[in-house]
Parts: sequence; structure tokens; C-alpha cells
Amino acid sequence: MASGSRRRIGVLGAGASGMAAAWSLSRFPERYEVHVIEPGEEAGGVACSLRRSLGGGGENEVGVSINYGVQGGNSKAHQNTIEMLRLFGMDASPAELAVSFGKGEHNWKNYERKPLQTRLKGETARFGVVIKWIARLEFITIFLSIDFVLRLCLFSDAFRHRMVYPLVALFFGTGNQTPKVSAAVIARVFRDPSLALFEYDPEYLLSQAPKTIAFPELRELYSRMRQQAEATGGCTFHMRTQASRVRRTAHGVLVSLEAAPSTWRAGSDQTSGDRTPATTTGEGWELALDEVIFACPANVALKILAEDASLAERWVLGSVEYFHDLTVTHTDHEYMQRHAEVDERAMYYIKTYDEKPECCEMGTSQRCRRLATKATGSTRQSSSIEMIRTFGQSTRWTRRRSWTSRGGLHSLTRSNISDG
Ligand SMILES: Cc1cc2nc3c(=O)[nH]c(=O)nc-3n(C[C@H](O)[C@H](O)[C@H](O)COP(=O)(O)OP(=O)(O)OC[C@H]3O[C@@H](n4cnc5c(N)ncnc54)[C@H](O)[C@@H]3O)c2cc1C
Repeated sequence: MASGSRRRIGVLGAGASGMAAAWSLSRFPERYEVHVIEPGEEAGGVACSLRRSLGGGGENEVGVSINYGVQGGNSKAHQNTIEMLRLFGMDASPAELAVSFGKGEHNWKNYERKPLQTRLKGETARFGVVIKWIARLEFITIFLSIDFVLRLCLFSDAFRHRMVYPLVALFFGTGNQTPKVSAAVIARVFRDPSLALFEYDPEYLLSQAPKTIAFPELRELYSRMRQQAEATGGCTFHMRTQASRVRRTAHGVLVSLEAAPSTWRAGSDQTSGDRTPATTTGEGWELALDEVIFACPANVALKILAEDASLAERWVLGSVEYFHDLTVTHTDHEYMQRHAEVDERAMYYIKTYDEKPECCEMGTSQRCRRLATKATGSTRQSSSIEMIRTFGQSTRWTRRRSWTSRGGLHSLTRSNISDG
């Protein structure tokens, strides 16, 4: 199957993982002929950006780009990402992780003392001891959910639902599934130096807003990666194309391809079949390859392998669970003020529902400031973009909300979040 001495490699999916694989292989064009298959229009997968106008009009128009899903993280845990960004002439910027959890009597912050923290001081101190034991007994606690352990240790509903789970949901993006997260994994958030973002505070749970990094425009990063990979002559991108079947043959792998729906969006429910292709030609084509790298979601990989999937593949890929999640990008400040304790400092807002406190809604506020030069001089324009992520309760947010002139809806995405 190899063309000349080159091995033909297929990369299914041009998200962060597929792009890293494709770009790395493209650096050796004498050894590999890489084919990237991506149903979307752009590379990047769920690490995506959108552009929004901050006004100005005409040639004074000022636009801003926001990453509306993936934001950044702990610099220690993202060393490779930082290195990659530099390779492409981009840099992550420093950010302060200031978080406002809950509303009213349930509000607490990692940069100010609040009555909830004072009220739950005793449990916070006890939590520190429990976390130590969870870490020591990791070989057992890895199999136990944090909810089970905290209930066993008689922690109150308020402490679990209003303090611990919103904090963990922020850290892992586990949303409404947070109570099921392994206790050992949560202990690591506080104790593992390579993971620990927050320092545990025996009185207030958290007492500082740690320094983190915010990614630059991800669309630009993936566009530069693609350009560089293509320029080597060793990598071809098949955009708007999806893999529908992968078969093992005596000589390698045969990948069946077809045109992707024009409405394709990475992260959306791609296996339920609710996405009707805009142009159904009924035609497909095949690509004969030596090897394939699956850089698409696990449930898609399993579907593509179909009856060819080995027992091990079925077990590993099938064990990843997906949950519906809704992301709304908007500029409705009134909504934010009604549902969160908004101030100038908080970057994240985690709302817990009173009627179902184990569920939460993650919001992030992006304050965009750009300098716009006008004929008369220079004017500073500023605008805030608030992003709300609702996990699990996918229709809750939109059902409650009707759009007014105060705010606008900028993007609405349904995606599957893996908790696996
Ligand atoms: C809302 C959200 C916020 C996040 N925030 C952060 C953060 O702040 N910091 C952080 O470090 N990480 C964050 N993450 C996690 C991080 O973004 C992901 O782990 C990472 O981007 C996943 O990349 P991936 O390539 O594995 O998957 P994806 O980005 O999902 O890429 C998979 C690709 O496969 C393609 N595909 C699907 N079906 C097929 C098919 N049949 N054939 C070919 N291709 C197919 C898709 O179109 C997609 O492009 C966040 C994730 C989400 C969803």
C-alpha cells in the first residue's frame, strides 16, 4: 500500500489531537503521506473561535475573536501546548482564575470571604483531613465516587453541593456528572503538583485566585498548523469529508468517505443520525491506507469500525459515556446579574440550581477591550461577552430565556461532553 517508500496514514478528525498527529507526521514527508479527514470546514474540532464586532462601523470596525469553548488552564499542565503555540509564533496570555460560585446566600468566591465559607468552616477543615486519606488510599478511592465518600463522612448537602461540586465542575468540566467523579481524582486537584490549580485553604477552602493561562485565538493556531503541514508536501486535508467506515484488509486499511453535512459542527451529536446531509449524493469514495489514527470521538470511532471492532476496541471505546451539554454565547448582562454575583473581577461564574443543587451551569465572562482608531483620534471601545455553559440540563436555559434588545445570542452549540 505504501506509495514509494512512504507509508500512507489516515488521521480521522482535525481536532487538537488529530492536528497534533498530522502536523507531527508531516514533518517527515519522506516517510509519511498523511491524509486528514475532517467533516468540518475548519480544523480545531471543539477548540473553536468566533469573531464578533465591537462596533465602530466601516473602516473603523473593530472585531474581536473569542474562543467560545476551550479557554486555557494551568500552565504546569499545559507545557506542551505552550511549546506548540510558540512554534507557531503565538503565545498564551496570563489570566487570573477569579471565580464567583452560586448566588445570594450560596455565593462564595476564591478572592473574597463570604458568609457561606464562614458558616462551613468546620467542614472545610475536616475536608482537608478526608482529602489526605483519600490520597493515601488511592488504590481503593479511585473506584469510589466523591459523593459516596463525602456522604460516608457525613458532610452536609450545603458543603457538597454549594462548595465542593461547583469547584470540581469548574476544574474538570464534568457538569452535572460531578458527584460521580472518582474521589481519588478530586484529591489530586488539591494535592498533585502537576495538576493542582488551587491550594486548599483549611478555613475558606480556597483563598487565592491562581495565575493561569488563556489561549490565543485557536482558529488561527490550527490554520497555521494546517498551512505548515500542507507546505511540506506530505499532508493533504480532506475537509467537509467524513469517514463512514473503516475496514481492515490484508494490505492495510480501507476508509470509506462521504461528503459531510454542511451544518457540521465538531462536538455535536454525530452518532444519533439527526444531522441530515445538505446534499445527499448517495455517493462515496474510498481511500486505501497503511494505517489509521482515530482522532474523532470514541463513539464515532466505534460506529465507524462497526462489526470489525475487536473485543478490546468495543470495551475501551464503548466505556466512554457522553452527555448532552448546551453552550450559549451571548451579551445578556441582565441574565448574568440575575443568576450570579457579578463583579469586575470574576472570570467564571458557577451557578447551582436551588431545586436541583447537584446540577450546575458554568458561565465565563470575556471582557474584550480593543483600541479603535477613528479619524478624530483614538477611542477605547469595550464590550463584554458572557458565555454560559449548561451541562446536562440542555433545554433549561433556552426554555427560560426569551431574547430581548438588552442582549444578543451569538452562538448556540449542543455538544457531547465525555465524562469517561
Ligand atoms: C466546552 C469545552 C470546554 C473546554 N475547555 C477546555 C479548557 O479550558 N482547557 C483545556 O485544556 N481543555 C478544554 N477542553 C477540552 C479540550 O478542548 C478537548 O479535550 C480537546 O479540544 C479535544 O480534542 P480532540 O481532537 O480529542 O477532539 P475534538 O475536538 O472533538 O475533535 C474530533 C474531531 O473529529 C471529527 N470527526 C467527528 N466524526 C468524524 C468522522 N466520522 N470522520 C472524521 N472526523 C470526524 C470532528 O469534526 C472533530 O473535528 C474543553 C472541551 C469542551 C468541549
